[in-house]
Amino acid sequence: GAEVEADADADGEAIGAANTHVVAHHYNELKETGRKERHKSKILYMRNFNNWIKSQLINEYMDLIKQQKRVGDALRVLDMCCGKGGDLLKWEKASISHLICTDIAEVSVEQCQQRYQDILHRAEASKFAHKFTAEFFACDSTMVRLRERYKDASLQLNLVSCQFAFHYCFESLQQADCMIRNAAECLQPGGYFIATFPDAYEIMKRLREAGPDARGFGNDVYSIEFECNTKVLPLFGAKYRFHLEGVVDCPEFLVHFPTLVKLARRHGLQLVRRSSFAEYFKENMPQGRQLLQRMSGLESIQPYRCDTKDQFEHVLRILGTQRARSVGTLSK
Ligand code: SAM
Repeated sequence: GAEVEADADADGEAIGAANTHVVAHHYNELKETGRKERHKSKILYMRNFNNWIKSQLINEYMDLIKQQKRVGDALRVLDMCCGKGGDLLKWEKASISHLICTDIAEVSVEQCQQRYQDILHRAEASKFAHKFTAEFFACDSTMVRLRERYKDASLQLNLVSCQFAFHYCFESLQQADCMIRNAAECLQPGGYFIATFPDAYEIMKRLREAGPDARGFGNDVYSIEFECNTKVLPLFGAKYRFHLEGVVDCPEFLVHFPTLVKLARRHGLQLVRRSSFAEYFKENMPQGRQLLQRMSGLESIQPYRCDTKDQFEHVLRILGTQRARSVGTLSK
């Protein structure tokens, strides 16, 4: 609509992607931590919780897609901003046939490809494991037309997934538009685009609660520090620095949800659902409880009453921090 067009004129070409190289550099430099290190991490339970949210989301939409298909039909997925391939096992479990993995950080893409090779070798050794083909390339999804990089540019996708990364494109209108076009243009009718990213309304609520002149807020695990005018927020480029204990220290951007919906509509996507992590957690607990227990290594998950002080703190932290994120699903 008019709001979006107006911003395009104001921002124009010049805004570009001033921050993407900072983001790429940050993720390229991130060391791959071993299992032992991860288990010592303060944010272990939060990571497990995030992983569980992704598993539930991927399973939910893969199941919906499978219901539209016949047994044996191909299932093709784009993992946009795939990182080091944290979702590869989820794709294997979902029995997909082809995966495209792309991320701006070349080092991450290499690690992702290595992980895929390991999964493939394991699958070859076991007659029960599921095998799927995959392609990998490093590129900026906010600047490059991804389909031109696919091995087959006419490929039709069933699902596009962008986990914990979509917000990077809200640096400028052009970048957001490019990312959404990348998500939409190869999606088959009936396919889904699923994404998780910080909830701009929750972030602004916390900023206001921190005081009228506060530039940021946080706790011992994460912090957010604004680097833009927070009194009159821009639609794009509402920049803040996000710091998460030992994992992230990067510029990020608020996603103005109504603008996302408008842009998506331009590319033939309509909003199916929008949920906060807290809502999604509640909704998925009945069917997902066992998986969450297994993934978090806890004997029991009791979100409102926990057995030990330790667990209680962790669960509080999970819910507290995760209230600020949301799940979005769009469909063609
Ligand atoms: N999706 C993965 C996951 O859930 O484990 C990785 C999430 S990580 C928090 C964010 C990822 O987004 C990083 O790997 C980063 O390199 C990638 N990223 C950020 N901006 C990007 C861009 N413009 N194009 C492609 N990837 C980008």
